Amino acid sequence: MNKFNITLLGTGTPRLQADRYGPSSLVEAGDEKFIIDCGRGTLQRVFESGTPITSIGKVLLTHLHSDHTVGFPDLWLTPWAFERKGDFQVWGPAGTEDMMAKLEAAFAFDIETRPLHDGIEAKDAAICAEDIRPGVFYDRKGIKITAFEVDHSPVNPAYGYRVDYEGKSVVFSGDTNYCESLIEHSRDVDILFCNVSGGRENITIHSERDKSIMKLHLMPEDAGRIFDKANIKLAVYIHMVQHSDIIDIIDRTRQTYQGPLKIGNDLMVFEVE
Ligand SMILES: [Zn+2]
Repeated sequence: MNKFNITLLGTGTPRLQADRYGPSSLVEAGDEKFIIDCGRGTLQRVFESGTPITSIGKVLLTHLHSDHTVGFPDLWLTPWAFERKGDFQVWGPAGTEDMMAKLEAAFAFDIETRPLHDGIEAKDAAICAEDIRPGVFYDRKGIKITAFEVDHSPVNPAYGYRVDYEGKSVVFSGDTNYCESLIEHSRDVDILFCNVSGGRENITIHSERDKSIMKLHLMPEDAGRIFDKANIKLAVYIHMVQHSDIIDIIDRTRQTYQGPLKIGNDLMVFEVE
């Protein structure tokens, strides 16, 4: 089959870490490339992965939390300064179009002045943004991408994404707690890239603030239930929030799921075959 690769660009959280940049993944299907979420350092990791920075022009946002979007201006404008051409497409939940219009306004000075000295055109910095509804929103060149709602409440809407290509499929959970729609859309998929919260109440989680953040994400036992019910072929944790201890996360996931499980690290590559 043609190339169907996922590169984890960032597996971190809002907390600064030297070895985990903000959440972001690169999906390559045939000759198409998509970035899912744009956390801190996304473009730096695109570069480190050996992917030409000017080859990125399609971005999917799971939700508009800053840890999933702060890397966007760099991903959008720096390649443009190096002669990236054509539409820069961005899909995401309601609010995406508004955010992108405001970013264009915020960076208007750069977009207006750089063409004066860099031999590039302002039109190539235009963002083509779309607020999408749940369902299939991309179906071209054999690549089908479906958005589905997940439960990151009170952060609504928040999406997960499923990418189907040549009979293979991967799902990105986005940020979510336990939800049936994630099980439904992950049924029998090859890989589920999933968020998880590893904190333990009354052991590592004490403050009300910590508890509230923890509730925005899956507990390892619940993630395992989802992996088991959906009958996925491989689970990969890519966004381990709030006092996550890797060994503890694995142990707790194993209480409800015995199948293949990996802990994602930045620049890890998965070939779906
Ligand atoms: Zn979030």
